[in-house]
Amino acid sequence: HDADRAKIIEAHELTIKLYHHVLNNTKQGQAAKQYLRERNLSDKLIDHFMLGYAPEEWDLLARFLTNRGFDLALMEKGGLLSAKADGSGYVDRFRNRIMFPIWDRDGKASAFAGRIIGEGQPKYLNTSETMLFTKSRTLYNLHNARPAIRKSKQVVLFEGYMDVIKSWSAGVKNGIATMGTALTEEHCAILKRQAEEVIICYDGDDAGQAAAHKSIPMLEGAGLKVSVAMLPKGKDPDDYISEYGPEAFLRDTMDQPVSVTKFKLIYSRKNHILLKEEGRKNYLLEAVQIVAELDSSTEREVYLKEISREFDISLDALKQDCHQIRLELQ
Ligand code: ATP
Ligand code: MN
Ligand code: MN
Ligand code: MN
Repeated sequence: HDADRAKIIEAHELTIKLYHHVLNNTKQGQAAKQYLRERNLSDKLIDHFMLGYAPEEWDLLARFLTNRGFDLALMEKGGLLSAKADGSGYVDRFRNRIMFPIWDRDGKASAFAGRIIGEGQPKYLNTSETMLFTKSRTLYNLHNARPAIRKSKQVVLFEGYMDVIKSWSAGVKNGIATMGTALTEEHCAILKRQAEEVIICYDGDDAGQAAAHKSIPMLEGAGLKVSVAMLPKGKDPDDYISEYGPEAFLRDTMDQPVSVTKFKLIYSRKNHILLKEEGRKNYLLEAVQIVAELDSSTEREVYLKEISREFDISLDALKQDCHQIRLELQ
């Protein structure tokens, strides 16, 4: 129903303003505001992304929406309220959380992600799936980033909302993120319509690197060129920017994306102890395997030469192994 959808969007737009106001102008919002300050988010950035705070109360939003004549049952369907267990009415879905509004591709407000202040579980709570919000098709900040994506033909894919926001403040205007779930084929198809190249910039921990491994073939499968902007161990873009500043982030990470092959080689390397003969041998076998996946013989030679030089192995031997693997792949 178009009328229902319009009402849900209208309610979200009002709720964004309400939560933003609570964050900025009320006593209840002070701790949340302080938390965001400690995470180095300026007022300007908070305004740009319209971050807000949903207070601890059970029914602030339910009352607010009632006063404005919204049908609470519809608001529950739209993901803003939850039905009480005893069926006697509705309560706010988000309480005591920092609120990140989520706009769809066309700039219509359709969902929220809510972060707990400080430590605790679940760290992020999203709007559940509704008639307007499907996680597998939603990319955070796509609407905002669209002009920059179209212009550069490049999109930067981050893991988290905070990474997108902090990178934006560092000058990365074409950054987006999935909704805390894995990248889907649908996401890839959406990106392909806007861009030619995707730069993956996931967290520098094992989970982030493993996720990059999964996202690479999906993006390539959709016909996108892929490279990887890597972060030092354990850091995510938001941490890095807070710790070392925006210039360092641009210089050390964003301006130095590596090829997919290079990324795989670096990743494989970390899993082997190169100081031991066995580890070195296993790494070399895996490395040749990675290079063998490349279709261009020139590219294969570039990497094999590098490996040959570093490990003092003849290029011929590496080439022969590579050739053998390619025969087996066919
Ligand atoms: P922060 O910097 O606020 O701690 P983050 O973005 O670094 O958050 P990660 O733990 O790296 O958080 O997770 C990446 C993304 O995964 C988050 O931005 C969020 O979208 C999602 N996510 C993380 N934890 C949860 C959770 N418990 N429930 C749902 N989504 C989550
Ligand atoms: Mn992470
Ligand atoms: Mn992270
Ligand atoms: Mn983080």
